[in-house]
Amino acid sequence: MHKLFQGKDVTLSYMMDDVKVEALKNLSFEIDSGKFTCLAGASGSGKSTLLNLLGLIEPMQAGEIKYLGRSTAELNENELNRIRRFEIGFVFQSFHLIDVLTAEENVEYFLVRQGIVKESRKELVRSALEWVGLGDHVRKRPGQMSGGQRQRVAIARALAKQPRVILADEPTANLDSKTGADVLQLLLGLCSDRGCSVVMASHDPQAMKLADCLIRLRDGQMIEEK
Ligand code: ADP
Ligand code: MG
Repeated sequence: MHKLFQGKDVTLSYMMDDVKVEALKNLSFEIDSGKFTCLAGASGSGKSTLLNLLGLIEPMQAGEIKYLGRSTAELNENELNRIRRFEIGFVFQSFHLIDVLTAEENVEYFLVRQGIVKESRKELVRSALEWVGLGDHVRKRPGQMSGGQRQRVAIARALAKQPRVILADEPTANLDSKTGADVLQLLLGLCSDRGCSVVMASHDPQAMKLADCLIRLRDGQMIEEK
């Protein structure tokens, strides 16, 4: 069976005022399907850059990333869009919800873009919000919810489309430790109960401890993989 992701000598740099910043340096890694992988490392170590490459948001510069055995460089724009839309869900540190939409509208909005018909959408939205424990809050807007509830909406939005993989970028960093622990449990459950692969960037010790696999970065290089 193919690995979910395989990276070989991945190198990526940004230009900052004519100075080259190497965010990832010759990074090689493997990420298994159906597992919960924690991408750890201090701020600036390259976690977000790697997640954006895995999510097909950031273009590759050097090296290779394979998704289910296929090099992302070989995928054409249609295939890239299909994978982004149907197979990958994103969860961010600052939730990225739309303030004027209710919880259910926030979740549904993403399904509209996938071309899912209205009748099936309602059911997917309801079951996603119930699964994250917000069945009684579907009509609330982000401004009427706590940080933990907002992140639950964001997780529901990512899982409603039933993706193969969820990429979560420090999803607990803006939450207090109890709420963060609950959100971590939810993401662990996505993996164990729903068979969704999760790659979570975090320096939360609990996330590192409970993850099936750990990739630890420092200055864009791997210092530990287990
Ligand atoms: P992390 O998510 O682990 O905090 P990042 O992937 O965001 O790390 O950043 C890795 C390095 O790349 C850092 O030195 C950061 O300053 C730099 N970097 C990230 N994004 C940009 C950008 N858009 N422009 C310039 N430099 C960037
Ligand atoms: Mg980051």
